[in-house]
Amino acid sequence: MQTRPCWVEISTRAFEDNCRFLSKLAGPQVDLLAIVKANAYGHSLALCGPAAVCAGLNWLGVTSVEEGIEARRLCPDARILVISGVYPNQGHDVVRNKLTAVVWDPWQFDLLEEAARSLGVRSISVHLEIDTGMSRQGVLPEALAPLLVRFRRDFPLRIEGVMTHLFAADEADNRVTEDQFLRLNEALITIKSAGIHPGILNVGNSAALVAGQASAIAKLAARFEMKALTRPGLALYGLVPEFDAQVTSAEPMSLGQARLALRPVLSWKSQVVSVQSVEPGAAIGYNGTFVATEPMRIALIAAGYADGLDRKLGNRFSLLVRGQRAPIVGRISMDQTVLDVTEIPDVAPGDEVILIGKQGEETISSFDHARAAGTIPWEIFTRIAQRVPRVEI
Ligand SMILES: *Cc1c(COP(=O)(O)O)cnc(C)c1O
Repeated sequence: MQTRPCWVEISTRAFEDNCRFLSKLAGPQVDLLAIVKANAYGHSLALCGPAAVCAGLNWLGVTSVEEGIEARRLCPDARILVISGVYPNQGHDVVRNKLTAVVWDPWQFDLLEEAARSLGVRSISVHLEIDTGMSRQGVLPEALAPLLVRFRRDFPLRIEGVMTHLFAADEADNRVTEDQFLRLNEALITIKSAGIHPGILNVGNSAALVAGQASAIAKLAARFEMKALTRPGLALYGLVPEFDAQVTSAEPMSLGQARLALRPVLSWKSQVVSVQSVEPGAAIGYNGTFVATEPMRIALIAAGYADGLDRKLGNRFSLLVRGQRAPIVGRISMDQTVLDVTEIPDVAPGDEVILIGKQGEETISSFDHARAAGTIPWEIFTRIAQRVPRVEI
């Protein structure tokens, strides 16, 4: 079926290669969990979930029970961690689909206990989140002891993993991360002294992994006879998080290796719909924010802000046509955008347009979009609209 010409291409091959590279970078002491929340950062859970499993990753991470159920359908044998987003009335779905919930609040314990008991399941694994400084979710180390009393022999919840989130792993000053390790260490001592022995220490995102933190995480895990598990997201999709200038000046080797090895998984494409010539004085787009000062050739493309192309990029970004940069002129419309192709010969209807990806020698990355739109690549990816089909290549 011919669809509207605005689509995303996903290289599952690149995704699997990235999985394998990061596993190797993490080393044998560290397992990887593939973060596939938010439809695999807009890359399609249906394509990336199975690809992660194919590349040898046993764990997938999502942020809702709904995504967890979908991941379970796609990957019957994977471990699936719901890192947030278990809500009232979803306990039974968690247990029935063998999802592993991250928990920290007593109401969550109640919810899962009720589900386990009423479904006749004797024991379910959970990961307990420790708030080591981000104040988003988790138990503070000093508030841990009274909570642990609950995890007696006849309690159906079993703490399989202890999790925390490093929230400043991309900063040069490692002080915040080191402080988090200290807080985590404190929590692990409390857990151990309660007679609980979780097997997994679940810590670290892409930034931590490519900055070479895996060995520090593995070391802490080993001290408590645990296995380390890290949770990369962005790097699996082929992007190396940007570090502040001081990190890059004393760059860890792993960062350079990651930059060389990781390959972008997603390309976002459209097509030229029509080309026309305009005379000086012609207004282009809503409110005429661009007015031609000389004769121009302009191309209309089938992608707009309803597809996820940030409206702020009007008059301040370029897309690729015939391997060259074509400036966006005027405001971006809901479903359409106009490009200046005056300097690009022979542009014609049907020509491929690159919003993210490579054409000839030129590349546009989600970092480029993010800089122009004042945001981060995570948001650029996750804003690509659902109506844009994801096609495996
Ligand atoms: C999203 C997320 C990650 C992955 O982060 P990246 O920076 O994309 O690697 C890891 N852990 C948690 C808890 C997250 O929410």
